[in-house]
Amino acid sequence: MTDLSDLFDKKIYDTIAKVPNDFAHYEKKLVDWCNLNTGSRNYLGLKQFLPLLEEAFGALPGVISRKKLNPEKVVMTNGKVEEVDLGHSFHLKVRPDAPIQIVLTGHYDTVFPIDSPFQSVTPTDNDELNGPGVADMKGGILVMLEGLKAFEHYEFKDNIGYEVLLSPDEEIGSLGSAHLLHEIGSRSDLGLTYEPALPDGSMAGARKGSANFALIIHGKSAHVGRAHKEGISAILAAAKFVTSLEANNDNNHGVTFNCGKIDGGSANNVVPDIAIVRFNIRAPSPETMNWAVGVINENIAAISSNGIHCHLEGGISRPPKPKNKAQEQIMSDISRIAEGLGIKMQFKDTGGVCEGNNLFASGCPNIDTLGVLGGNIHSSDEYVLKSSFGKRAALTTAILCAYASGKLDAKALRKLM
Ligand SMILES: [Zn+2]
Repeated sequence: MTDLSDLFDKKIYDTIAKVPNDFAHYEKKLVDWCNLNTGSRNYLGLKQFLPLLEEAFGALPGVISRKKLNPEKVVMTNGKVEEVDLGHSFHLKVRPDAPIQIVLTGHYDTVFPIDSPFQSVTPTDNDELNGPGVADMKGGILVMLEGLKAFEHYEFKDNIGYEVLLSPDEEIGSLGSAHLLHEIGSRSDLGLTYEPALPDGSMAGARKGSANFALIIHGKSAHVGRAHKEGISAILAAAKFVTSLEANNDNNHGVTFNCGKIDGGSANNVVPDIAIVRFNIRAPSPETMNWAVGVINENIAAISSNGIHCHLEGGISRPPKPKNKAQEQIMSDISRIAEGLGIKMQFKDTGGVCEGNNLFASGCPNIDTLGVLGGNIHSSDEYVLKSSFGKRAALTTAILCAYASGKLDAKALRKLM
C-alpha cells in the first residue's frame, strides 16, 4: 500500500494489511447468515441467529451478553394495545476502562418476512451478489467484525475500548432497543453504524427524524337502517383527519406527513365505532419535529367533538440527525482516513433513518453508513458488491487505528455537540 496519508505510519498500514481482502474469506458466513430468515417479525429465526453472532464475535476479546429489549406496544385492529416481546440484542464489551470508548451498532433483522419468496443468496460470477440482507446489513456486520479483528493486532489498541450492539428490531423502528442505544451512546465518544453505503460509495450526511403514530378513534355504532342518525362514524372522522393532516405536506419546514394504513369498522350495515389511522412523519430538525407534533395535535382536536374520542399511541422513534459541528468534524476525520486508503468519500443528506439518529440523540457523534457497498435494499433485487468487503473492513480498522494513535482526537468530538 502506498503512503497516502499523514495519519498513518507503517504500524498502522501493517495492521490494516491484516484485514482479509479476498471475498472468499467472507462468502461462507455471509451466505449462511443470509439464508437464515431473520425478518423483524420472525422471532424464532431471530433467536436462532443470536448464537451465530456469539460464535463469530467470540473471536474478539471481551464479554458477550444478551440485552433484553423493551416490549413493543402494538395497536391491534380493534383499538386495543398489546405488548409484544422483541427478544434480545447481542452485546459485546471490550476494554471498558480504556480512555477512548467507541460504540459500534448494527441490526440482524431484515425486512423480508418468513413467507417472503426472497429467502436465499443467488451465486454469481460477477461482482454483484443478490440475497436478503447481503447489504442491509449482514454484510455490514461481517465488515465490522473483520475490521475489529484486525484492529486487535494494533500496538496501541489498548487506548480504545468498545461496545458492539446488534439488534433485532431496527427495521421496525428500534423501539425495543432504543433505550440500549441511548444508554451505550451516552457513554461513548463516537459511534460507528454499519448501514450500507451507496454503490458509488456515497455516505449518509444529515438524516431527517422519523415518528410513527397510531391514532385510535372511537365513535358510536348504530344500525344503519333503524338508527343511522344515532351513530357517530369513526371512519368518517378518520377520513377527515387524514385529509386535513396530509394537507400540511405543502409546508416550508421540510416535514412530510404520510398516512400509511387505516383499520376499522365492521359490517356494511353498522355505523363504525372504531378506526385506527397509522401514520409517519419525517422532520429535518428537533424544531420542525416539534412543529409537526403540534400540527398532529391540532388535527386531533379538530375531529374530537360530537362524540368522537381519540387516543394517540406511538412517538418519535428516530430523532433528527442534523449536521452540527461534531458531525462535520467526524465526517472530515473519516474522509481523511478514507483518503489514506485511496477512497474518496462524499456525504449526501437523506430522509432515511437508522440507529445513527438514536446515537446522535444520546449526544454521540457518529457515522452510520460504514457497511458494505450495495443497492436496491428492501427489495428482492438487494445486492452487495463483493469487492467492497475487504475495503470496508479496512476502513473500520483504519478509523480505529487513527483514533487510537492519537493522530485524530476522539475526545474532541462530543465537546462539539
Ligand atoms: Zn439497515
